[in-house]
Amino acid sequence: MKTETHVVIGRAISRYLHLDPRLEKCFIRGLKKPDLKAKRRGRRVYRHHGIYPKSIMHIVWSARRAYLARDYEKALEILGVALHYLQDKCVIGARKSSRRIHNRVEREIASLEIPVDAIREGFDRAECSPLFVRTVLYSIKPSTNPAEALRNACLYSAMITGAVYNSSQPPRELLEILEKIKMEKMERKKKMKKIVWIPITLLIVGLALIPIQPLVSTTLLALSLIYLLLSLISIHTTNPQLHEQLAWYGLE
Ligand SMILES: [Zn+2]
Repeated sequence: MKTETHVVIGRAISRYLHLDPRLEKCFIRGLKKPDLKAKRRGRRVYRHHGIYPKSIMHIVWSARRAYLARDYEKALEILGVALHYLQDKCVIGARKSSRRIHNRVEREIASLEIPVDAIREGFDRAECSPLFVRTVLYSIKPSTNPAEALRNACLYSAMITGAVYNSSQPPRELLEILEKIKMEKMERKKKMKKIVWIPITLLIVGLALIPIQPLVSTTLLALSLIYLLLSLISIHTTNPQLHEQLAWYGLE
């Protein structure tokens, strides 16, 4: 996608969010950055068009962290970079075989009006969650149709912006789940403390039996080790999706 198209999409999003000129400038700077970086290094801009969703997700996380730290200028600049890559992915790839179509689609997109309704729809559908961001990133399909590519670029950009540039206050349900997990962990720890004599006895008896009963001793030592490992796992096991959702609000 042409740099000026990234800029007009960014301006439309900025208008929707009522960003002040200072913040808009940071956002636009981020949106231009990947192209400027590629040109500065003398590389073809095409190179970053096939970036993996995982890499974009990584950038989105950095933007969210800056947002949570209330560094809105930094958050918007980083978000701008992520959106640039996302928008490029909405257009058919620039591999040698499809480069001619890619260039034509890019040119035609640059002459189209921004579909403001797609931006509105994206913000309406946005959910403040990393799972939502990942689902959107992995659902992007490149298009050969200029209007469709632009519409998707606007829709997905608004969805991701709505997920990142949103509340830093965790929803009540999430806090309740966090509280429940903490309580459960405490309960488990208490239970462990009550029966901690079992692995310790196994360990002492195992060590004492080394010279006379090496086989029994090895079994006892292995049992105490397994016991300790299982205890540690049961205390530290968490649901990775939940862990991620908590991190999205800076709770982990
Ligand atoms: Zn680009």
